[in-house]
Formats: sequence, structure tokens, C-alpha cells
Amino acid sequence: MTDGLPGVLGAMRATTRAAIAIHENPDLDAVGAAAGMIDLFAQLGVQASLHVDEDVRLPEHDWFLPAAAVFSGPPAAGDTLFVVDSGSLPRTALTLGDWSGTIVNIDHHPDNTRFGDVNLVLPESSSASEIVCALARGLGLVPSRAAANGLYAGIAFDTGQFRHASTGPGTLRAAATLVEAGADPAAVYEAVFEGRSLGDLRVWARAMLSAQAVAGGRGLIATLTLADYEDGADSAEGVVEALRSVRGVEAAALVREQREGSRVRVSMRSRESDVGALARRRGGGGHQRAAGFSSDDSPEEVTRWLSSAFDDLLQTASS
Ligand code: AMP
Ligand code: MN
Ligand code: MN
Repeated sequence: MTDGLPGVLGAMRATTRAAIAIHENPDLDAVGAAAGMIDLFAQLGVQASLHVDEDVRLPEHDWFLPAAAVFSGPPAAGDTLFVVDSGSLPRTALTLGDWSGTIVNIDHHPDNTRFGDVNLVLPESSSASEIVCALARGLGLVPSRAAANGLYAGIAFDTGQFRHASTGPGTLRAAATLVEAGADPAAVYEAVFEGRSLGDLRVWARAMLSAQAVAGGRGLIATLTLADYEDGADSAEGVVEALRSVRGVEAAALVREQREGSRVRVSMRSRESDVGALARRRGGGGHQRAAGFSSDDSPEEVTRWLSSAFDDLLQTASS
């Protein structure tokens, strides 16, 4: 089968039954891109659903993805599975069991393993949602207002509101097209970035207080343990970006103990250094400037490993 945009457009046109999958710990790009795909299929006359494992928690999505479009469990026999925003098959939030069928892989992670029968991997794209906009254009379709909001949210989320280096002319053109289709930037901003609770803010404060400087101040590492969370509060959205924004800081990490799944999750951001390579050394992945990994070691052990890894990384980067 053909890879690239023509390959995916061909697969979409040929599909009569579609299922969508996204990565574990799904973010707004994953869910926004899925909402966009479901809408494009609906316009092609094909009913598509987002499939996730039962225990997967999705970010708030009611305003762009109908609850009826989310399905827990594997795709049906004969479905074509469209995986969006996931660098590898094991990273998807969906256990396939003995399902076997055609897989279409649509992603923007540079370390994508090209696991699909058809692969569209565009590392220069800001987000999977931006790629879905290119698919819409290729099909001559305009996303519905709800899907446009989801795709806009996905792009806004992955670009840090159009601030990260991944924001290119194509990103802004896609965003403009989405606003023309009815996406509401102010409403998306409010829904995505202004939904914090006071408990979330206190978690933020504890993360900031825990931050320790490494590599002579060129690295910052914050650690949150379960004791740092208030009842219900579990969002640390934006913490690692704030740490990286400190003057003189080249790379930042947030180590978070988790209530479920692997014991610890790590988020890393840099201005330029390759934190993706660091993440891959621990079985994770991501982009050069934004990456992460999971571990079953204690938060203290992971923080210790990171501080020595940052010492090495940031020394090399400055020499
Ligand atoms: P996050 O810090 O969770 O926002 O993730 C930043 C980037 O790193 C995203 O592009 C993720 O896809 C990637 N990433 C985070 N955790 C992992 C992991 N365990 N395995 C592979 N990639 C990851
Ligand atoms: Mn994502
Ligand atoms: Mn993404």
C-alpha cells in the first residue's frame, strides 16, 4: 500500500468501517485529531468511533466529541484502524487482542515506528490535528463546527498556544481554516487552560517549591509525590513549561508519582537539547524538545537518575 498523504486519502475513501485509536494518557491533540477523523468519516458516509481500553481517562471532550462516538474495547473484525498521534502500537490506549486488520498510522512523532500498513508520519507538523486538517483539505471537506473546535484545541495544545518552535506557516493556515469553519479560539482557551481548581493550583505551588537546579542552573527538576495531591486534584498541566521558561534554564523535567498505571511519569521540555533521546534511554519517547517516559522506580530514584542525566546532557550541549 502507498504511504503518505495519497495513501491515507485512498484508505479513507476505500474504508467502509473505521475505528480510531489514540495514545495512552491521551491529551487534547489525540482526542481532537480523533474527533476530526470521526467527523471526516461521517461526511464520507462512514460511521467511525474512537476505541479505547475501559480504564482510559480522556481529557474533557464533550464540547467537540459526542460521548456516543467513544467505544471501549477492540475494533470489530473488518474495521480499518486509524491510529492518530501515537508513536508506536504498544503506546496506544487500546488492547487489540486477537484483532487483526489494516492499520493506518497518522502521526507527527519523529520516533514513530511506522507500524501501519499505511503510514503518514510528518515530524514537521505541529500536531496530529494539523495533519487531520491536511486530510480534510485533501478530501475537499470542511470539518463541522464541533470537529473544528476539537482540531483547533489539539493544535493549540501541542503548540502551547502557537508559541513553540513547531508552529509553522502551515499550522497557522490550518488554524485559520478551522476558525472559518466555526472554531472559537477564546472558548477553546477557556476550556483548555482556565479549567483549573484551587487544588490544581496548590499542586502547582508544591511542584515549584520542589524544583531543584542541576547542571549549574541549566536544568530544573521538580518532583510530585502522591502526598502532594489534594483530593481530586491531579493536573500539573503547564508546570514543566513554566520551569523551562526560567531564565538560563535549557531543560526541565517534572517527575510525577501516579495513582494508577506505572508508578512514575516524567515530562521533559528543552529549548534545544534532545530530551527525546534521553526519554528513549528509559523506554519512552517524544520529540527533541518535548518528551517523556514512565517508570516503576520510586520518584526519588527517577529524580536522582534525571539529575545525573541532565548533568551529562547539559554539559555536552554547552561544549
Ligand atoms: P508530555 O510531557 O506527557 O506532554 O509528553 C511530551 C511528549 O513526550 C509527547 O509528544 C509524548 O508523546 C511523549 N511521551 C511522553 N511520555 C511518553 C512515553 N512513556 N513513551 C513515549 N513517548 C512519550
Ligand atoms: Mn499527544
Ligand atoms: Mn501530538
